[in-house]
Amino acid sequence: MGVSFDKIDGAALLKFDIQPAANAVSEADRAAKLRDPGFGRVFTDHMAIVRYNQTDGWHGARVESRANFPLDPAAAVLHYAQEIFEGLKAYVREDGGVNLFRPDANARRFRNSADRMAMAPLPEPVFIEAVEQLVRIDSAWIPGGEGSLYLRPFMIASEIFLGVKPSAEYIFAVIASPVGSYFKGGPAPVSIWVSENYTRAAIGGTGAVKCGGNYAASLRAQAEASDHGCDQVVFLDAVERRYIEELGGMNIFFVFEDGSLLTPPLGTILPGITRDSIIALAKDKGTQVREEAYTLDQWRADAASGKLKEAFACGTAAVISPIGQVRSASGDFTINGGTAGPVTMGLRKQLVDIQYGRAPDPHNWIRKVL
Ligand SMILES: *Cc1c(COP(=O)(O)O)cnc(C)c1O
Repeated sequence: MGVSFDKIDGAALLKFDIQPAANAVSEADRAAKLRDPGFGRVFTDHMAIVRYNQTDGWHGARVESRANFPLDPAAAVLHYAQEIFEGLKAYVREDGGVNLFRPDANARRFRNSADRMAMAPLPEPVFIEAVEQLVRIDSAWIPGGEGSLYLRPFMIASEIFLGVKPSAEYIFAVIASPVGSYFKGGPAPVSIWVSENYTRAAIGGTGAVKCGGNYAASLRAQAEASDHGCDQVVFLDAVERRYIEELGGMNIFFVFEDGSLLTPPLGTILPGITRDSIIALAKDKGTQVREEAYTLDQWRADAASGKLKEAFACGTAAVISPIGQVRSASGDFTINGGTAGPVTMGLRKQLVDIQYGRAPDPHNWIRKVL
């Protein structure tokens, strides 16, 4: 692909140096922080970190006290946004052990994201080891009940150089944040605003990879959604401006009266692991799942005729959220009377039960960390 990074594969053997934090939060303070953590504001005591340069390849793997990074003001990421990330969760089982859900799929997607952004590919075993080591050392931070520990692996271009080219140096790190439920009020139906002024992704662009730049470009559309009283934004395709693609950070599914599901095809959308898991679970039950283009006009017509019964958004953070209201410049419509439908809530329960180890795991998605 024109960009080559040497000394990658030896890193599969990297051993993490574990340095427990000397300044860890007290048990009482931790309990207070875990009472109502919300999303993404509370962090654990540690982080995992691995560095890349051309002489040493991936090196310096450590788990240490969570702290600021010293970053030179000319670090490439600050200027040209060479940055990628992932999101996955650790869950406490009823027996007190800890599950990760499909971390291998996140590791693979991270490699694909690195490839698209011309960044050094992180060997998948190093990604998984970094996540597991962090979960083990910070396991006291995983909330019980329906909470979980949200893990955020990310990579930034750290070479000090203002020339426009792929950075020769990178920092990979993992941080962890205990979370309650993503949407306040749990899986209550959300309202979504159809973005007709802004698009998220075009063919040949970066829509299919998890880079921070996609989110930066979506914020104006999300603000427009908020201005119209909506929780989330849904994007249309960039060519015809007719086909539903996905939300700012979640994929979308439609449920029809015959019980079948439809979800937009891969290409410019982010290949969600939740999306992939829902497709597999539905197919296990003999449900027909079509990965097909679907227009906003058809959605509105099917909602009016009763052919469309439910719609939901899905992603690691929120799992599955029913869609109750759809608003757009060309009119509003309601899904399932604005309430959560049975297919949506059934799939949600099925997936969550697997994640927490309460249901059998026929696809071997669970990785027991503790
Ligand atoms: C992360 C993400 C998703 C959901 O992916 P999961 O693997 O299910 O968490 C969907 N859309 C976008 C744009 C994303 O960044």
